[in-house]
Amino acid sequence: MNSTFEERMRESVNRPRIYFDHAATTLPRPEVIDTVATLLKESYGNPSSFYQEGHRAAELLEDARARIAACLDVHPEEIFFTSCGTESDNWAIKGTADAHRRRGRHIITTTIEHHAVLHSMEALEREGFDVTYLDVDHRGILEPEKVREALRDDTILVSVMMANNEIGTIQPIKVIGSICREAGVLLHSDGVQALGAIPVNPNELNADMMSFSGHKLYAPKGIGLLYKRKGVRIDRLIDGGAQEKRQRGGTENVTYAVALAKALEMSLADMEKESKRQTALRDRLIHGVIERIPHTKLNGHATERLPNNANFSFEFIEGESILLFLDKFGYACSSGSACTSASLDPSHVLLAIGLPAEIAHGSLRVTLGIDSTDEQINHFLIDLPLIVERLRDMSPLYSDYKRGVLPSLIPEEGSLDLEIAGGYGWSS
Ligand SMILES: *Cc1c(COP(=O)(O)O)cnc(C)c1O
Repeated sequence: MNSTFEERMRESVNRPRIYFDHAATTLPRPEVIDTVATLLKESYGNPSSFYQEGHRAAELLEDARARIAACLDVHPEEIFFTSCGTESDNWAIKGTADAHRRRGRHIITTTIEHHAVLHSMEALEREGFDVTYLDVDHRGILEPEKVREALRDDTILVSVMMANNEIGTIQPIKVIGSICREAGVLLHSDGVQALGAIPVNPNELNADMMSFSGHKLYAPKGIGLLYKRKGVRIDRLIDGGAQEKRQRGGTENVTYAVALAKALEMSLADMEKESKRQTALRDRLIHGVIERIPHTKLNGHATERLPNNANFSFEFIEGESILLFLDKFGYACSSGSACTSASLDPSHVLLAIGLPAEIAHGSLRVTLGIDSTDEQINHFLIDLPLIVERLRDMSPLYSDYKRGVLPSLIPEEGSLDLEIAGGYGWSS
């Protein structure tokens, strides 16, 4: 006999929690935690100091830089340590704007970037820069020709993310990069979600700058990277000492730099195997959810997406109630919303791919990782349909639909690739 909603909720207490939010952050690998513990104890020197402890720390830092450079197939001098992905995005964008403002004040980006990019752009707009926000298609992909059409004589920078953190779509950066090269315009790409999950080679991608973050690839929070191609000139964001070749002040976080090198090497060593494994889990999850839950659509591209990302919209579900129930059932997931706590605004990414606000609100992001298992997917495919059914039973929208006064925008059989034009039209 099938378990009921109440039975499943009770049973979930006896099971380990299931973490399905790897796009938000990841649990550091045990080997990385060991590295951190050892270095915190044994290597506390300041790399700028002129005695053995300092020299040793400097050596460790440069060794980490070289190992990371080797992983990306770039020169060590092109790798800069920062405090996080957000700092790297801010530095690349504001640093380019400051260094090149005499040449031009036009920047091109997309409507689906991370807030670290979008809010940096808004800050520059307040300083008089002109920013073009390119639209993506209903799958979340940017057509490269749109970049060419948007380029102007005064364009100094193009910033397009490599993989989206909400819907997982992977952009054609290599083509966009060659368009930028031809025009002599710098390309920055936020590669935070891509690194460790799919191959990232800044040279092959024709990218001049790329941002990365440790905690998205099983290293600790508080360390990021900026790849900056040799010869690319940008201004400092963090003024201070002479660290990072005088380009980023602040005592270097040697411990976390080494932890990041370790995590990155391990991710690359596993990448082929993990990418296959997570893609298979993801696809079983996607097909299972669409088959079991009526009026459900997949957001993003069916194939051009990160191996670990699934993002769904369930019609006739209001707000973030789905996350609260999933939490009670033992799952850590995320909504499509920009901010899960304070703001009730629907996600800018889901709106950008054409979802009406009502549907964007009933969205769910599930992101898998190296610790995700088949058994976890089995549990999820039992629990999620029960939760959605319960929420729909409580939803006035669903009863309106049942009474025939509200149309459905997502077909009952569900969809992997659905373009929704306009909303219900009654909400405003
Ligand atoms: C997480 C994330 C960031 C921010 O990185 P932090 O290290 O958390 O500051 C930037 N861009 C993308 C795409 C991300 O997923």
